Amino acid sequence: MGMASGISRPVTAACINPSSCRPRYHRLFFRSFLFRRRLPRSLGTSSEDPFAQRLGGSPSEAMASSSSRSTVSYREELAAAKKAALLASHLCQKVQKSIMPSDVQSKADKSPVTVADYGSQALISLVLKMELPSLSFSLVAEEDSVDLQKDVAHETLKSITKLVNEILSASDTYKLSLSEEEVLDAIDSGKSEGGPHGRHWVLDPIDGTKGFLRGDQYAIALAMLDEGKVALGVLACPNLPLFSVRSTCDQSFNSEIGCIFSACLGSGALMESLNGSTASKVHVSTIEAPADASFFESFEAAHSMHDLSSSIAEKLGVRAPPVRIDSQAKYAAMARGDGAIYLRFPHKGYREKIWDHAAGFIVVSEAGGLVSDAAGNELDFSRGRHLDLDTGIICTNKKLMPLLLKAVQDSLKEKLQSPSTLKPKLNH
Ligand code: AMP
Ligand code: MG
Repeated sequence: MGMASGISRPVTAACINPSSCRPRYHRLFFRSFLFRRRLPRSLGTSSEDPFAQRLGGSPSEAMASSSSRSTVSYREELAAAKKAALLASHLCQKVQKSIMPSDVQSKADKSPVTVADYGSQALISLVLKMELPSLSFSLVAEEDSVDLQKDVAHETLKSITKLVNEILSASDTYKLSLSEEEVLDAIDSGKSEGGPHGRHWVLDPIDGTKGFLRGDQYAIALAMLDEGKVALGVLACPNLPLFSVRSTCDQSFNSEIGCIFSACLGSGALMESLNGSTASKVHVSTIEAPADASFFESFEAAHSMHDLSSSIAEKLGVRAPPVRIDSQAKYAAMARGDGAIYLRFPHKGYREKIWDHAAGFIVVSEAGGLVSDAAGNELDFSRGRHLDLDTGIICTNKKLMPLLLKAVQDSLKEKLQSPSTLKPKLNH
């Protein structure tokens, strides 16, 4: 797999997957002065701000030197999003280390949900409200508390509440203890419908729950829409190797994992280690010849048609085997050039959710890449909780996009002409 990239090299699934390598809140809780204490090292908002560091100046200099007004206006929101995603990462890591069968439930659509999905959503919703108390709050998020309110789920709710409180008290920043009702409320504040007006947070508290359960890749994906456009995004990938994945394979003894990617409209994309020790700007692969490219797709064959991607890759002359990993960690890896193409073709009938793409979309776009539907149209995040496209999502650099689009169109046409290969599988 040949690569050209910002900071890293090719990825293989084997390398990248660690397993193979009701009362309302007390309003006072959300008065930020009660909670603004010492911040975790990697999450400071002033002199430690990575955008300021990258631009080589103080926050105000960084803001002044930016060509985009949006950098200025979303600064506080981005810092809050990073704090929230970092705390949620700690929660997920804690759960993943010793997950028990009782920590996992099955949702109405048969997909798994864990105490970490619920805990992450509660925590992120709380932190955003506490950090940005003056803003009206709208959150479009994957989970809701319906199943947790059933009597049979009481032990699960107790575990989630305990978990959230443990993470809050270990944070050194937020000294509060939530009741079970407050946790349910925090989860349910994610019921917004989003839409084209105003600002809406968009959250997948654990994207790739199946990967999380396998001990593989997953992501905490948080973005903010402003007037229907993605304005900023954060992707925390606790199991993603920090450095070039090829070198991680070569030196597996030295494979530090845990990255957080962030991007704000007009400001580029940044990758930091979860422990805050490194930060660097990232860029998508600059590969121009498809033969040198490698491509990402879902680990789960039920989530994306592997036969279709293989036909597209063949048409392009891609030689490398697919790199299959879970979650928006694919967008993160794309953003730093680990691979040059990401293909996602859900089976007929599946409706894409905005939380599965918003954060990844802005991270890749700000890293210089393009994300579109299979016809080359921009993704539209302004239509509510769904993306409402029926063909698929593709992502690559600007040079490769025309070739990729052509190969995608040709392969889709062929697939349509051979109806026996079209097997509708899932419809949720
Ligand atoms: P990935 O790990 O990239 O395959 O995507 C994970 C996300 O796919 C999950 O968070 C789900 O929201 C979403 N998903 C669930 N079921 C399906 C499906 N049948 N087809 C496509 N995506 C799905
Ligand atoms: Mg998801």
